[in-house]
Amino acid sequence: MIKRVGVIGGGQLAWMMAEAAQSLGIELVIQTPQATDPAVAIASQTVLAPVADAEATAKLSRLCDVITFENEFVDLEALSRLADHGVLFYPRLTSLAPLLDKYHQRTYLRNVGIPTPQFQVFQNTDAASLNPFGWPTVLKVRRHGYDGQGTVILKQPADAVALLHSPAFTAADWLIEEFVPFERELAVIAARSLSGETVLYPVVETQQEQQVCRRVFVIDDFDPAVVEQVHQIAQALLTSLDYVGVMGIECFLTREGQVLVNELAPRTHNSGHYTLDACATSQFEQQLRAVCGLPLGSSTLTSSGAVMVNLLGYEAADHDYLEQRQRLVDIPNAHVYWYGKTQSRPGRKLGHVTVLLQPEQDRLHATEIAETIERIWYPNKA
Ligand code: ADP
Repeated sequence: MIKRVGVIGGGQLAWMMAEAAQSLGIELVIQTPQATDPAVAIASQTVLAPVADAEATAKLSRLCDVITFENEFVDLEALSRLADHGVLFYPRLTSLAPLLDKYHQRTYLRNVGIPTPQFQVFQNTDAASLNPFGWPTVLKVRRHGYDGQGTVILKQPADAVALLHSPAFTAADWLIEEFVPFERELAVIAARSLSGETVLYPVVETQQEQQVCRRVFVIDDFDPAVVEQVHQIAQALLTSLDYVGVMGIECFLTREGQVLVNELAPRTHNSGHYTLDACATSQFEQQLRAVCGLPLGSSTLTSSGAVMVNLLGYEAADHDYLEQRQRLVDIPNAHVYWYGKTQSRPGRKLGHVTVLLQPEQDRLHATEIAETIERIWYPNKA
């Protein structure tokens, strides 16, 4: 019986595991660089070290029974040596191996026959002649990109020339891919247990601004054929990876009704925060269940739907935004999460709000709710 779960990464995703850990009688031991990181507040023990520090993970392994991830920016090779000495990682390191580099991830998807945008490794410095996909086109850093940092949409050759001369460009390895003029962006949380049982959550719509997730709509208004494609993709992926744990799957829905996988996150995911309030089992509980070898819980919705809005930083400040948070709490059926970060900066995820929808509330209502939240949160929207 697993009692202590080690988590690599101590941001909000680890912080949101706290309630489930408590109800399952599990202690969380967190490896994270800063004492101010959100999950330090809920950890039974902490190893203060960068997530890629495998020596620190060796120390973590002595404090827990199994190790899981809330951040995948790890040193897989160094962790493999720990696994060889019997340290238990779920998801398995072999499941993570094809996913940590965006070029490897796209290659894996193509090899298992899952539709994904066209792509190729980008090595040359003459983008104007080497873009095979037409304009606009998308460049992505192969590793360590998140929240749109490391994703650049280039509209014309001149943009590429400017980028190629920037220091940020030469410091990383890049991938180039076709720009997908998607109709909507979709996501699904999928979970697989040690015994191979799979549970899928509802397909949701995500809305990004400047490549960062702003809103998630949990409204069942998809064509069943689209839902079926997403489900088949999720099932096929978790099985082929022999995956144990929760995975966030982000997709593009094309105008022709085809689902293309954009990105796989081998952990809990922002598009699944609504599950804390709107589902029988949250994605955080599901992750703990899977990695502890417990049966998975039900992913059924317990409300008619939901809308989730991220509270993103819009200034560099040391501020708790209490007055705005109080106004958000007063919205009917709202659940406000504040991650306890001490520093705000533009684009940083500081918290989120989930509002549960009532049976009579449709997409229009959900959009109005999202706008109300954003008017309260962003000063320039008021
Ligand atoms: P991150 O790893 O930073 O989340 P993503 O690859 O998920 O980066 O890209 C972030 C967002 O950028 C996507 O949600 C989408 O809105 C946009 N985007 C990424 N790739 C493409 C693409 N090939 N075509 C069109 N839009 C894209």
